[in-house]
Amino acid sequence: MYDSINEKLEKFLCDLTVVKLGKKLRILGYDVEIIKSVNPSDIENKIAADNRKLITKSHKLAKKYNGILIVSNKIIEQLQEILPILTNRAKKGSARCAECNEPLVEYSTENVTGKVPIYVFESIENFRYCPKCGKIYWKGTHVIFFERWNNVERTLKSRQGEVKQ
Ligand SMILES: [Zn+2]
Repeated sequence: MYDSINEKLEKFLCDLTVVKLGKKLRILGYDVEIIKSVNPSDIENKIAADNRKLITKSHKLAKKYNGILIVSNKIIEQLQEILPILTNRAKKGSARCAECNEPLVEYSTENVTGKVPIYVFESIENFRYCPKCGKIYWKGTHVIFFERWNNVERTLKSRQGEVKQ
């Protein structure tokens, strides 16, 4: 079903039906635009202008623009649906801001003093920030997410194993 997807494809467009998923994909390092408009011509223009692959829960739109159709309502199940399609492109080092899609930048601990709770500052060393909105991300945020993601990977692998046997 997804054979036509270019392996190198890394840019996506999420419509309003999959906003949360889009933000998670950004944290995983994917370039994801989230379009607020429901006007099909706006969506079409965006896809064409930036050569993005549409991700949506709309059967109609997915079919029309050869997009990726998501069927589940739960974010964790949506990730299970989409991650096998996206191959293993996610790299821990290339996270993007969940809010603005901007690649996060390393932030030295001296610069963060006073901006994050003191217990966070004392226990964690790896800070990143979004140069666009200034939001600070630290490992704790990602650990929760990546743990979950690893579980997804494990689940998928064990399922694939079952199929092969
Ligand atoms: Zn940002």
